[in-house]
Amino acid sequence: MKITKSKYIFVTGGVTSSLGKGIISASLAKLLQERGFSVTIQKLDPYINIDPGTLNPYEHGECFVTDDGAETDLDLGHYERFLNIRTSQDNNVTTGRIYQSVIDKERRGEFLGKTVQVIPHITDEIKARIQRLGEKGIYDIVITEIGGTVGDIESLPYIEAVRQLHWELGEENVAIIHLTLIPYLAAAGELKTKPTQHSVKFLMQSGVQPDVLVCRTDRPLSEEVRRKIALFTNVRLGNVIESRDAETIYDVPLLMQEEQLDKVVLKKLQLPEGNEPEMIAWKSFLHKFKNPKDTITIGLVGKYVELHDAYKSIHESLIHGATQNQLKLEMRWIHSEKLSDEEIVAALKNVDAAIVAPGFGKRGVDGKITAINYARVNKLPLFGICFGMQIAAIEFARNVLDLPNADSTELTPGTSEPVISLLENQKLEILGGTMRLGEQICVLEKDSKAYKIYQTETISERHRHRYEFNNDYIEMFEKNGLKTAGKDTKTNLVEILEIPDHPWFITTQFHPEYKSTVLNPHPLFVDFIKTAYQLKNKKL
Ligand code: GLN
Repeated sequence: MKITKSKYIFVTGGVTSSLGKGIISASLAKLLQERGFSVTIQKLDPYINIDPGTLNPYEHGECFVTDDGAETDLDLGHYERFLNIRTSQDNNVTTGRIYQSVIDKERRGEFLGKTVQVIPHITDEIKARIQRLGEKGIYDIVITEIGGTVGDIESLPYIEAVRQLHWELGEENVAIIHLTLIPYLAAAGELKTKPTQHSVKFLMQSGVQPDVLVCRTDRPLSEEVRRKIALFTNVRLGNVIESRDAETIYDVPLLMQEEQLDKVVLKKLQLPEGNEPEMIAWKSFLHKFKNPKDTITIGLVGKYVELHDAYKSIHESLIHGATQNQLKLEMRWIHSEKLSDEEIVAALKNVDAAIVAPGFGKRGVDGKITAINYARVNKLPLFGICFGMQIAAIEFARNVLDLPNADSTELTPGTSEPVISLLENQKLEILGGTMRLGEQICVLEKDSKAYKIYQTETISERHRHRYEFNNDYIEMFEKNGLKTAGKDTKTNLVEILEIPDHPWFITTQFHPEYKSTVLNPHPLFVDFIKTAYQLKNKKL
């Protein structure tokens, strides 16, 4: 469908955080996409960091990287995985970025002597960032998810920007969805609507009337409860949508379809309904996901494993890979810092394959070296990602090449054997946004396993790292059996190291997990699981 001007949907959250605004937004976008609309989603984050690139994963979960090298909120990963589209820097905006550009303009004298204020200057900048996606002229619908919870001080300028845009663009061009919680009080034996009434009141005080309420609940919303919510919030009865806790996030688009969230929104935007979404490919994925023929157990070795969100894209990519093989994924989270070497080895004895996760800094490195050593020697399938590749190189140099001092200059700056080191142009940079980021081309060796898996010579994958494999050592590595399977031929940087004489030992400098989607599971993850499963059966 091509409509002349983009329409805007805003998704706000009330009562508590973690209600799943990202999944609801992605699910709605999926349904609209299936109805023939071209849709994109944007996340506005109220924190003051310029981007989540410098945030500790414990604070904010994984940092998701786009093709154009933006370090973004992990919700963008959901958007890409659900919609099979690419997002960009424009799809994630933070308060830090808004203020930075307003202050830069002030320094350039662009405000002509005016006092610079939250209204209109900050809100104008927010509105401009929202409309920038619409102005590309390729999207029928732009969905903007507003991070945080209404009532937060930090969210106020965003809510105000929504109010203004609604007024400027007109009723038929804007739909406002408020996601809220309807808790069940066991003592009263009832679902309670009061928190929702309050959070909608707060929105209304800010001049924003939601058109649709999506109500998170752990049990069905009766007609009576829906009526009560509608009455107290000025929302039409049919626009009170139930969002029951789901068995998996992949059920949510279908649950939203049953509740007609997509139709309600299209009606508000005065858009034609198009065809009822058939969701054939989605349902076939879900069928395989829910009817596995067996299980596969994967150990993920990392230092943030208590917080699974820190490895969101890797976990999701493993689910895609397992589902493609019609297997149920069992995860074992292996702490690379808190566990002893013996405990790590014991944990690896109970998995079918292991992933060594990306990371920064010294903590937990020894545990990762132990894990890689065990997998290499005992022929356990091993997938090393980014830091995982660098640590595999260190392990190999120390234990096979007999270079006990082999190290990365990130970990031991003056090391005598810098198998991983900093490129000249990466030295003395500030920390934020200065890594090798985003999509880069890699050319595969024709006789490599990676080539067999990708079945193409030139691939492009996303990056997020500062340190590189040191090509001074390449010959030694190759001679002894850890081979370069792919290189960035422009810069001559090593992109993949693999051991041909091992059932599956592939380590990548890039992050393949950022490109796996429900409809296009990443070939490395699919093959990793497939091989691990074959080996598991052989052992049995
Ligand atoms: N710390 C390593 C580097 O900066 C690896 C980064 C990562 O795993 N994303 O090169």
